[in-house]
Amino acid sequence: MPSNRELFFRYLGQTSAFPLAVEIERAEGVYMYGQDGKRYVDLISGIGVSSIGHRHPRVVQAVKDQAEKYMHLMVYGEFVQSPQVKLAELLAQHLPHSLNNVYLVNSGSEATEGALKLAKRHTGRTEIVCFRKAYHGSTQGSLSVMGDERMKNAFRPLLPDVRTLDYNAIEQLDQISARTACVIAETIQGEAGAIVPENGFLQALRQRCNETGALLIFDEIQAGFGRTGKLWAFEHFNIVPDILLLAKGMGGGMPIGAFVASAEIMQSLSHSPVLGHITTFGGNAVCAAAALANLEVITENILWEGVLEKEKLFRETLRHPAIKSIRGKGLMLAVEFENFEQNKRIIDRCLESGVLTDWFLFADNCLRVAPPLIITNEQIVDACQVILDAIE
Ligand code: PMP
Repeated sequence: MPSNRELFFRYLGQTSAFPLAVEIERAEGVYMYGQDGKRYVDLISGIGVSSIGHRHPRVVQAVKDQAEKYMHLMVYGEFVQSPQVKLAELLAQHLPHSLNNVYLVNSGSEATEGALKLAKRHTGRTEIVCFRKAYHGSTQGSLSVMGDERMKNAFRPLLPDVRTLDYNAIEQLDQISARTACVIAETIQGEAGAIVPENGFLQALRQRCNETGALLIFDEIQAGFGRTGKLWAFEHFNIVPDILLLAKGMGGGMPIGAFVASAEIMQSLSHSPVLGHITTFGGNAVCAAAALANLEVITENILWEGVLEKEKLFRETLRHPAIKSIRGKGLMLAVEFENFEQNKRIIDRCLESGVLTDWFLFADNCLRVAPPLIITNEQIVDACQVILDAIE
């Protein structure tokens, strides 16, 4: 009998020549358990997903309860489905008034797709501005606004009329013009290696969008739901985007995403043409129930409040001459090493010692620290010790 590992390589479409190929039997809280009983600390939350930990009991219960009632009934936007409306209401209650209308989708990429279409439709303009080293998804529209030529070139032609600027470069913002439908930016860049906007960059971007009438889209697919120490990362900068993208940490481990705007902007998708954006599974009832429970857990416990203290503990504990810097905010951190080879050696040794981490798509010399927000101080210190031992 072939092992699951053999079947994985034989039958599943592969995305790289060197997958981790770890097989997990069960996961709970910050831990994942392999078949041999080996325990791993999940220091990356399945890349920003398991923010309230694996298999949170409230989420598991919500999934079970909803599955007992109904799962799929009808395509998105036709039936009144209680988990969807309650989720949208709770989101709106925790967002500024201008972000009061929620379109539910299945993933981050789809949230990006929907938002780009909404911006073009609402403004009647075509140009889209994005940033270098940005990651917004892997579908053709979201790939078009990825800030990396190497990843894009093999798949051209992509969307036309896309302009790429440098993140944090205020002097380039005058390239945003009255032709620009929207500017899409990660509030804190993820795959670039946890790059925090500096010196009023996002405020200047908001200002330029106001001057030109371009819609401002913030992608908080990685940074949202408390990860950076506020419920929403844009709260650090005292500005509000016109469209907000959510996914990953939204579903408590179930697949769901959203693009959020004002009702006034969002109504552009309901006429001329009608059905301007359609999804069969978007906001699936079971996923929406999970997302509702997830958001309740986060907001009832104000989970983001302890995050900055935990960041501090990581920064204080991860001290070593080989560490060049630690970038990022909250529990969205990048530990910078000299080069990829060194970083990869450390990551491999961490995995052997039961700590799962990885590098970033556009910063392969940086080690990713993005654990569940519920990680305890003791677990942080233990994980840091594994990393420090791996450096030695
Ligand atoms: N935006 C950001 C900032 C992301 O980190 C990701 C996923 N890494 C996406 C969009 C795409 O999300 P998904 O993989 O769910 O399509």
